This record gives sequence, C-alpha cells and structure tokens, in this order.
Amino acid sequence: MDYSFTPEQEQIREHLRALLSKACPPEYAAKCDEDARPPREAYDALAKNGWFGLIVPPEYGGTGGNAIDLAILLEECGYAFEELGMWVFRTLTYGGYAVMRDGTPEQKQAILPRVAKGEIAVCFGITEPHSGSDAAALTTKATEHEGGYLINGQKVFTSGMDCSELCLLIARTSSAGKKHEGITNFLIDTTLPGIDIKKIKTLGQRAIGTTQVFYNDVQVPKSAVLGKVGEGWRSVDAYIWYERLCLSAARTGAATAAFEYALNYAKTRKQFGKTIGEFQAISHKLADMKMMLDISRTMVYRFAWLMDQGKATRHDAAVVKLHTGETYKAVSDMGLQILGGYGYCMEYPMQRFFRDSRLATIGAGTSEIQRNIIARGLGL
Ligand SMILES: Cc1cc2nc3c(=O)[nH]c(=O)nc-3n(C[C@H](O)[C@H](O)[C@H](O)COP(=O)(O)OP(=O)(O)OC[C@H]3O[C@@H](n4cnc5c(N)ncnc54)[C@H](O)[C@@H]3O)c2cc1C
Repeated sequence: MDYSFTPEQEQIREHLRALLSKACPPEYAAKCDEDARPPREAYDALAKNGWFGLIVPPEYGGTGGNAIDLAILLEECGYAFEELGMWVFRTLTYGGYAVMRDGTPEQKQAILPRVAKGEIAVCFGITEPHSGSDAAALTTKATEHEGGYLINGQKVFTSGMDCSELCLLIARTSSAGKKHEGITNFLIDTTLPGIDIKKIKTLGQRAIGTTQVFYNDVQVPKSAVLGKVGEGWRSVDAYIWYERLCLSAARTGAATAAFEYALNYAKTRKQFGKTIGEFQAISHKLADMKMMLDISRTMVYRFAWLMDQGKATRHDAAVVKLHTGETYKAVSDMGLQILGGYGYCMEYPMQRFFRDSRLATIGAGTSEIQRNIIARGLGL
C-alpha cells in the first residue's frame, strides 16, 4: 500500500496553491460572499491556466487526468474558496464527466473542448419542490414536440443556473412504470425562452447561490438529450458518485482552511496571560479537528483511488460524503467557538465557513440519506 502522491500530483497541488493564492485570496472570497457575486475572476484564472482540461481526454483538448488529480484540484479550490470548488466541480461533473460518459460523438465534439477551455459553466437541476431526498419522484415533464421536446415543470435549488451556460436537467419522459424509469437527462441552454430563474436567499453559499427555475413550454432540440431516453436514472446515479468525490474533496479543502485559521488564532490570541491554545479546552478541540481532517483526506483519496481502479461502491461514496460533510460542519463550528465573539463577527472568515458548511450535511443527499445507504449495505 502506497499513500504517496506522484511527483506530477505534487506539482498539480503546488501550481494550484500558487495560482489561487493570487487569483482567489481570502479577502476576495469574503467579498464575493458579501456581494453575492460568483468568483468569476478566479474561475477565469483556472481556465486560462488550463485546469478545466484536467479530466478531459487529450483528443478534446484536455490532459486526461485521473480521479486523484481531480480530487487535488477540488481540494485546492475548496481551500481557497469553497464556492469556487462548487462552481468548478459542477462544470467538470455535469459538463465534463457526464458528457464523457454518455455523450454522442457530436456532443463530445461540441461540449468537451469548451469545458476544457473553461469557456462554459454547467449546473445541475434535479431537485423539485416535492422531490428532494426522494429525487426520482420528480415530475418535470419532457414531451415530444416538433422533432424535439417541450419541457414543463419547476425545479428548486438549481445552484448557479443564473451564471451557467448549460444545465443538466433531469426530466420525466414517461410516467409508466416505476419512478426510476421514464427519466431522461437533457443538457440545455440556460437562456432558452420559457425559462424563468428566481434567486433564493440562503444562509450560506451566497456567492454563486441557488435558484428556483420555472420551465414553461421550453422547446429543446433532440440533440439536447444526454444518454438514452427513459434510462436517465442509471446515469444520474453515476454522476452523483462522481459528484460525491468532488464535493468531499472541496469541503475537505475548505475545512482545512477553517482549521488553519482557528489554529493560528489559538496561537496568537491571549487571555489570562497565555495564548488560548495553551488551554487544554482549546488545544483538544484543535486536536479533534486535525484528527477528523486527516480521516477526511484519507477517505477522499482512497475513494478517488477506488474510482480509478473501477472498484468504488455506493457504500464508499456514501461513507466519504457523510464523513467529509459532517467533518466540515464540526470543524467550522469548533473554529467559531475558538474565535469566541470574533467568530460571530462578519469581519472574520469563520462565520462564512460556519454558514457554508451547514449545507454539507444537507445538499447532494443529506447525512440521513447517506446513513440509509450505508445501513442498506449492511443488510438493514
Ligand atoms: C444551497 C443549496 C444548494 C443546492 N444545490 C442543488 C443543485 O445544484 N441541484 C439540485 O438538483 N439540488 C440542489 N440542492 C437540493 C438538495 O440536494 C436537497 O435540498 C437535498 O437533497 C434534500 O432535499 P430536501 O431539501 O427536499 O429535503 P427533504 O428530502 O424534504 O428532507 C427533509 C429532512 O427529512 C430527512 N429525510 C427525508 N427522507 C428521509 C429518509 N428516507 N430517511 C431519513 N430521513 C429522511 C432529510 O434527511 C432531511 O433532514 C441544493 C440545496 C441547497 C439548500
């Protein structure tokens, strides 16, 4: 068993750390959050330096990196600014991986080079007002019409719909059979007539944010179908595993940044004539944070390795998502406590970690749902 990164992977990390320390410093992340503005400049800097091509095959302008390379990219983006990681991962998962897996040669030719250049952003719309955890119960309809499809329905929590060129929209093309059947995936232009986007005010994740999307007689061409008509659910399942790797890596990066801030604070803030880190109540919190983060990182790279070997299971995906999400939430909570009253102030970054991390146990499958998956694997 070898836990080391290759020299090339160490270089990926070094390059990204250097690039993002300039293109996405903490004050920039804070401002994007405060102004509810996507980190466009940082996204473009990654694009300019070729990072969106990391997982795209060379024939489409990428470098064909593996899942470990991808986890490094996402961990570094998350370390700089979690929402940058979220934006990057959606494009790479729903524009990159999904098209690589299920696209026709024409779709690959049309989309992958644009993803590799970072020219486009891609978002994902599956959740609806009445189908959250029970995502396959979705009712947004796609009906055959004039050689294409007409989309009608409502999505909620489509993050980044207002700052993405494409959306991977999951819709129902047939109501016959079980709920997982009759689902079709569409890669649609987000500016089509009949699409109405409303921003949702949220506790955290404010830079890119999330939206409610209404689809009223939206005409999409047949060429927008990604994968097989009526068999979309199997693909969604695969995309979600990929998403779980990306999310887990980005959140581990963000949790590491929160931990480092709290550690530095504990080493410099003095009370009762000592640094607060000298009080065992504080140092033990930091020790727990470090332990949880070490486990998160080990799990992220183990899961990436399993994916590269084609050995990852549903159980592995749920375990890594659950642990890294709960760790990010716990680390940010403890970090806020370590900063005392300053942790509660908007001028300090800990409140942002605290707010952003709250989504980690809710979005992309709640912690309860991950536990259900793990329990089912145990025969319960
Ligand atoms: C900021 C934000 C961004 C998001 N981004 C996206 C996005 O880009 N695209 C997208 O499609 N969706 C997105 N989501 C949706 C997200 O994935 C859902 O919110 C999540 O899956 C939970 O669904 P729900 O909110 O409807 O909660 P519900 O499913 O109604 O769950 C409510 C509570 O009941 C629990 N529960 C439900 N079923 C069970 C069960 N069987 N066993 C035990 N407990 C259960 C849940 O764990 C939860 O605690 C986003 C959500 C938010 C808040």
